[in-house]
Amino acid sequence: MTQLQPPRGTKDLIGEDQRRHTHIVTVARAAAATYGFEEWSTPIFEDTRVFARTLGDTSDVVTKEMYTFEDRGGDSVTLRPENTAGICRALVTNGLTQSLPQKVFYAGPMFRYERPQKGRYRQFTQIGAELIGAAEPLADAETIALGRDILAELGLGAEITLELNTLGDGESRAAWRAALVDYFSARREQLSAESQARLARNPLRILDSKDPADRALVAEAPAIAPFLTPESATFYDRLRNYLTQLGVAFVENPRIVRGLDYYNHTAFEFVTNRLGAQGTVMAGGRYDGLVAEMGGPPTPAVGWAAGVERLAMLLEVPPSLPRPVAVIPMDPESEAVALALLQEVRRAGVRAEIAYRGNAKRRFERANRIGASAALLIGEAERASETVIVRDLESGKQQTLSRRDAVRHLTQPLVP
Ligand code: ATP
Ligand code: MG
Repeated sequence: MTQLQPPRGTKDLIGEDQRRHTHIVTVARAAAATYGFEEWSTPIFEDTRVFARTLGDTSDVVTKEMYTFEDRGGDSVTLRPENTAGICRALVTNGLTQSLPQKVFYAGPMFRYERPQKGRYRQFTQIGAELIGAAEPLADAETIALGRDILAELGLGAEITLELNTLGDGESRAAWRAALVDYFSARREQLSAESQARLARNPLRILDSKDPADRALVAEAPAIAPFLTPESATFYDRLRNYLTQLGVAFVENPRIVRGLDYYNHTAFEFVTNRLGAQGTVMAGGRYDGLVAEMGGPPTPAVGWAAGVERLAMLLEVPPSLPRPVAVIPMDPESEAVALALLQEVRRAGVRAEIAYRGNAKRRFERANRIGASAALLIGEAERASETVIVRDLESGKQQTLSRRDAVRHLTQPLVP
């Protein structure tokens, strides 16, 4: 029989891989809470219009990457390629445009039909933050600061750089776009076929191209700065000031644009040079137009998303499971007492294991095999005196304690 494989571009998370993911999400969730971001979960599939309408039909995601299908009832549904659209849909659906601002954190799987490679999968996990209902640059600065704190907490602060840009307001962007069209049109022959198509539909996206020939042209392309309206320039100034006040270091990169079409003003990426072409670990910006496109009132918003797989590849020390304590009944009659003790130890927050079978010798062997730090032994004498022998499996030293003291002993010195 042929061995079944996971679908191309997906993978199983087992052991250390899952621990890395869990660690990242746990750290992010805790940091988000300190900034007052509350977690939401939205469906992993949505009405296709949620994405088709808002991502813009010229974005790569909509044109090439969506998992879209008709369900048995004939409705077109799409596995979410990202979660900003879903969060905005939920905001409108739940009437929350009346209670702003909303500060939202999320974590979960996303789906894009891409060519799989290192750091690029068809199912991947994002963590993300959205601050909806605040138009001031302090909101952008806080959202970015949260991202930076999460990366720092993961121990990645030193090797990840925040790159910052502005896309200005509509007027600034229209003028910049015209300059880009002039510039690229004059060099049309040198552009990749894909970017030639972008030139007509969405020239800003050329700046985001990964094609080496395009990148050379992009390096010399006009930046937005001279086209910024005074209001846009002020917004960007204030953002940079706030970031400095919040202690967030950044470098300006005039080539940063967002892949999706609904962004304005702030655009940023946290990048590393350790992941090759997949060096962007966290990306975001301001998207004041999106909630209205979802059928809500005009509502300013800013947010980011980060790829958990890419962060997981960067983590130096994979978090490990705590070493267990092994509970060992020395004879069959002691099993009931051992089970009671086992549960007591677990309730105290210590990982505890019991072997499912075998005599005391076999159980000792197993305790060593699973890396137990200590063994709790109960035999006839301990049953009679309501005590337990605590043996340190590192030093071999042992002592007899009351059960209560044994549990206390484990929750203090022995737990790594
Ligand atoms: P890229 O330029 O790498 O294709 P993107 O602009 O499509 O990224 P976003 O839509 O901004 O990515 O998503 C935010 C983050 O999610 C990315 O910076 C990246 O860390 C992660 N990400 C995006 N697509 C994938 C994928 N296919 N596999 C793994 N992680 C991904
Ligand atoms: Mg992409």
